Amino acid sequence: MARFVRRDEPEIMEVNEDHVMRANSVEGRQQAPQKHEGKLYRLVLVSFGLLCVTQAALNISLRLILYNSDVQKLELLKMERDQIKTSNNRLTEAKDQLQTSYNRLTEERDQLQTSNNILRESLCTQTQTYPHCWIEFNSNWYYVSNEMKTWEESRQDCLRRGAHLVIINSKEEQKFLVGLNKRVWIGLTDREEEGTWTWVDGSPLTTAYWGRTQPDDGDGFTKVGTEDCAELNNHYSDPLNKWNDLSCNGKNSWICEKVV
Ligand code: CA
Ligand code: CA
Repeated sequence: MARFVRRDEPEIMEVNEDHVMRANSVEGRQQAPQKHEGKLYRLVLVSFGLLCVTQAALNISLRLILYNSDVQKLELLKMERDQIKTSNNRLTEAKDQLQTSYNRLTEERDQLQTSNNILRESLCTQTQTYPHCWIEFNSNWYYVSNEMKTWEESRQDCLRRGAHLVIINSKEEQKFLVGLNKRVWIGLTDREEEGTWTWVDGSPLTTAYWGRTQPDDGDGFTKVGTEDCAELNNHYSDPLNKWNDLSCNGKNSWICEKVV
């Protein structure tokens, strides 16, 4: 530094200069940390700013990534929903087709069943084929009518079939016939001699399964002396007490029996 010293004020100047120099020196010493602190302060501010900017950039990037991920998930969900809808439509269509097929098959089955019944009935009437028309029990065959006739008409029908009105020879046979659960004529009558019951093959009655108070020959319900033909009457509860005598002119279903 240039030094201008006045003669009359050398010491003062020197003092002042020294003072200034000292002052400058002290001020310099005092200003150096302040400058340093300012730089440090600015550096901190800049760093903090950069940190904030970086944080903001990271947040934005993360949000973008999450947004893109959500969009992709949404698209996948839409695709899955559309696939499920398509699959559901196909299944519904297939179900409708199966239902239609089932209905058609059911109708065809019913038609075939009807045709089969008609054909079987025709065969039974014309040929008496086995076993479609007859039921087997203990090596004997039994035909159960679907019509109703008098006792004599029923007996004649069985003769035309190469059989006879059923003759009941055992408890087992009685139970078997009861199991058919049908009110029918059996081949038993006392029309030749009142009170003497005889089977249609001429054999006498040995073991009977009359219902309670039967045979009554019409007593209590119809005119006495009018009931000479036997039926198996399913109104009685005990299977071994099921017979009843009835007017031979009444109409009943019947059972034919044949030994093949
Ligand atoms: Ca009688
Ligand atoms: Ca009776």
